[in-house]
Amino acid sequence: MIEIAAKLYVGDVVEMRKQHPCGGATWEIVRVGADIGLVCRTCGRRVLLSRRDFARGVKRFVKRGETS
Ligand SMILES: [Zn+2]
Repeated sequence: MIEIAAKLYVGDVVEMRKQHPCGGATWEIVRVGADIGLVCRTCGRRVLLSRRDFARGVKRFVKRGETS
């Protein structure tokens, strides 16, 4: 799981294990740094997660935002 989180790109869309209270399950990565910034694609709420928390909580990648 840690390895997944090592390769993150702005624009990646991920599904988290826990649903957001709004019912949304997919998040777009908007910031990649010491913390990972995520925006809920359903309600638009922005959250910051540590890389560790992100690695623990991520379920799968829906779309990769990397552009060559
Ligand atoms: Zn939400």
